Amino acid sequence: MTGLAVRNVSYSYGSKRALDDVSFHVPQGAFCALLGPNGAGKSTLFSLMTRLFTTSEGEIEIAGHNLARSPRKALAQIGVVFQQPTLDLDLSVQRNLSYFAALHGLSGRLAQDRITAALERLDMAERAAERARDLNGGHRRRLEIARCLIHAPSVLLLDEPTVGLDAASRKAITHHVHDLSRQDGMTVLWATHLTDEIAPDDQVAVLHRGRLLKQAQCSALTAGQPLQDVFLTMTGETA
Ligand code: ADP
Ligand code: MG
Repeated sequence: MTGLAVRNVSYSYGSKRALDDVSFHVPQGAFCALLGPNGAGKSTLFSLMTRLFTTSEGEIEIAGHNLARSPRKALAQIGVVFQQPTLDLDLSVQRNLSYFAALHGLSGRLAQDRITAALERLDMAERAAERARDLNGGHRRRLEIARCLIHAPSVLLLDEPTVGLDAASRKAITHHVHDLSRQDGMTVLWATHLTDEIAPDDQVAVLHRGRLLKQAQCSALTAGQPLQDVFLTMTGETA
């Protein structure tokens, strides 16, 4: 199966069950929002999908590769933006990207072509020489998104990539990543607790207290109601 599949995945921190029998599928080229309040288990799932943690309960398949059985092939197909930023702030935009390219065994013309294309994709081309520290929060996040494209993955995993950004930066980043799915056919899993980042034709997987409550196309899930109201009703939380 292409895209991203999570099947019956559970994970515990000691006696704390952080994920409980979670299953969902993001078809190739789809944008899926993993929607859940703080503590739902989103970052724990990201740690499992990127193999920072492993679990014997359930399985994860990335672009047709089983993560436990073929980890190198599976991991080569994912581009990740973690919740905590991981840029080297003392390096330029260009150096951050060429360092990452080298880690993936890319150098010379191919690396530079990928870097140029990724920066253009995120409207960052004119900032190549700037030091990461001198970028605002929105541009730092865009640099991280450009970086996760360098090794040409087919599945992008982004964990709350807009947290702490102003409204304009949030909108720009949300727009760019939707474009990567619509125009470039990337499979996207976008973790968030902010319903305004989700478009009507996106998939939504609602995670709450470690359980997957529902997966559906956003417009089918809401049936004309505001997604925020539907989300609050499903999770039993109040605004
Ligand atoms: P989210 O990213 O959706 O906010 P997390 O995956 O960070 O959720 O956390 C899910 C649950 O697991 C929460 O109850 C959290 O307190 C707990 N948790 C997360 N990390 C740890 C850890 N290292 N040790 C113990 N509990 C943890
Ligand atoms: Mg988190």
